[in-house]
Amino acid sequence: MLVLLAEDLRLEDNLAFAIASDTGRDGFAVLRVQPEARGRPTRTRHRHEIEDAAEARIGEELRHSRMPFEVLRPHDDTSLVTACRRLGCTSVIRNAADGMAAENAHRVGWEQELHSAHIPFLTVNGEMIRRVGPGGAKPDQPFLSDDQAVAQEKLSDDHPIRLLRDFLRVLPERNYLADMWIPGRDRVSSSQLSTHFAAGTLSSHRAEWETAKAEKLWHAANPERSRSTEGTSFRHFRSRIAMRTGFLTTFSRYKDKPSRASLTPAQSERLSAWRSGNTGIPMPDAAMRELSATGWINFRLRQLVTSYGIQLLQLPAVEVGAALAELFDDYEPGITWPQVALNDGTLMQERGPRILNPVKQGNDLDPSEAYIRHWFPELDSVPAGFGHEPWLWFDNPLPAPLINHKAAFRDARARWGKRDQVFMSRDDVLRTHGLS
Ligand SMILES: Cc1cc2nc3c(=O)[nH]c(=O)nc-3n(C[C@H](O)[C@H](O)[C@H](O)COP(=O)(O)OP(=O)(O)OC[C@H]3O[C@@H](n4cnc5c(N)ncnc54)[C@H](O)[C@@H]3O)c2cc1C
Repeated sequence: MLVLLAEDLRLEDNLAFAIASDTGRDGFAVLRVQPEARGRPTRTRHRHEIEDAAEARIGEELRHSRMPFEVLRPHDDTSLVTACRRLGCTSVIRNAADGMAAENAHRVGWEQELHSAHIPFLTVNGEMIRRVGPGGAKPDQPFLSDDQAVAQEKLSDDHPIRLLRDFLRVLPERNYLADMWIPGRDRVSSSQLSTHFAAGTLSSHRAEWETAKAEKLWHAANPERSRSTEGTSFRHFRSRIAMRTGFLTTFSRYKDKPSRASLTPAQSERLSAWRSGNTGIPMPDAAMRELSATGWINFRLRQLVTSYGIQLLQLPAVEVGAALAELFDDYEPGITWPQVALNDGTLMQERGPRILNPVKQGNDLDPSEAYIRHWFPELDSVPAGFGHEPWLWFDNPLPAPLINHKAAFRDARARWGKRDQVFMSRDDVLRTHGLS
C-alpha cells in the first residue's frame, strides 16, 4: 500500500497512515508530493522550513521501521503508477483533502491514471469534514492516534504537538479573546500554530482533544475561577479550532474561480502599492508590510487588508486572494478563499460585504500609533494624533493617499446596493452549515 501525503504531513493522527500500517501486511511505503508539484502556489520560506522539518521527522521515523519514504518535488515525475511500480505497491490510500481547481485537476489525473492501471485509490476522511466526492462521508468519530504514541517524552522541542502543549500551559495567563486582534499583543496571545494546521503537521482534532484535556485539568485545579477570563480562554480557543473545520467544510461546496483577472495599468499600479504597503494610508499599509516581512498577521488585520484591497481600492477579489495566498505562511485555500468571498460579499451575501474604514480601524486597533510607527519610522516627524491620517499634518512624510478613504468607503456602500451577483444562495449556505 502506498500512503500519499499532502497537507496531512504527519504520521500521528493520520487515518490513511494508520490503515496502511494495520492492513499493509507486506509492508507499505509513504510518498509525499510537495505542494508546488500538485498545483499549489509557491510556499513562503517559513512554510517551507516547517514542512522540510516535518519531512525530515517522518523520514527518520520510517527509516527506523524500515519503511520506504519518498518526497516528490516540483520537477519530479509525479506519476503515481510509476511510484507504485518503483516501490512495489499495488494500492494507494490518502486522506480526503480539498484544494483549488488546479489541485483537484491533479487528483482527477491521478484517479484516471491509477484506474487505467487497475490500481485501487482509496480516499478516507479522518478529519470529520463533511465533503462531497470521494471519501465524502462525515465519520462518526474523529481519528486520533493512541495517546501513548504521542507521549511528551517522544516529542522533539519543535514538534507541533509539543508546541501546542506549551501554548496550552500559558493560555490562561494570556488574554486570548481580547488581545488576539491587537497588533503587538496578538503574537503572544494566540497560538501561532496556523502554519502547522495548514501544513497538516498538526491535526485539528488533536488540538481540540489536547485543549479539552488541558481545560479539564485547569478547572479541576481552579474550581472557583471557572467563569474568569482565564477559565474561558480554553473554550474560546477550542471554538477557533472548530471554525477551521467549519471553513474547510464550506470550501468543499464552494466553487473557486481560478482564472486571474486582466488588469488595467492603473489597477496593476494599485495592486502593487497595496501589496507592498505603499498606498499612503498607514494602517492597511503597515499590515501588508508586517505580512510581507513575517508571513503572518492577525485576523482583524487580514479582514482589513482584504476589505481595503477589494472594496476601497476596487482590486479584483481574485487578485487580492492570489496575493494573500503567496504571502501567508499558513495559506489554506479552504479559509483564504471563503474569507475573500465573505469580504467581497459573494458568500453569505445577506450579511453584505465587509466594508471597513481603514482610519477608524487604525484608531480602534492601534490607538497609541505604536504599530504604524514601527512599520513607518518616517512618521517620527508627525505628532501623536496624526499618525493614522498623516495627510492632515502640513508636512506629510508619506506619499499622498491613492484614494480619499471616506469617499471610497461611501462609494463601496453605494455600489453594494446595486449588486445582484450571487455565488451561494442563503439555502446553500444553511445546508453547508447543516442548518436546514
Ligand atoms: C482574509 C482572511 C484570510 C485568512 N486566511 C487564512 C489561511 O489561509 N489560513 C489560516 O489558517 N487562517 C486564515 N485566516 C484565519 C485567521 O486569521 C488565522 O487562522 C489566525 O490568524 C491564525 O493565527 P493563530 O494560529 O495564532 O490562531 P489562534 O487564535 O491560535 O487559533 C487556533 C487555530 O484556529 C484556526 N482559526 C483561528 N481563527 C480562525 C478563523 N477566523 N477562521 C478559521 N480558522 C481559524 C486556525 O487554524 C488557528 O491556527 C484568514 C482570515 C482572513 C480574514
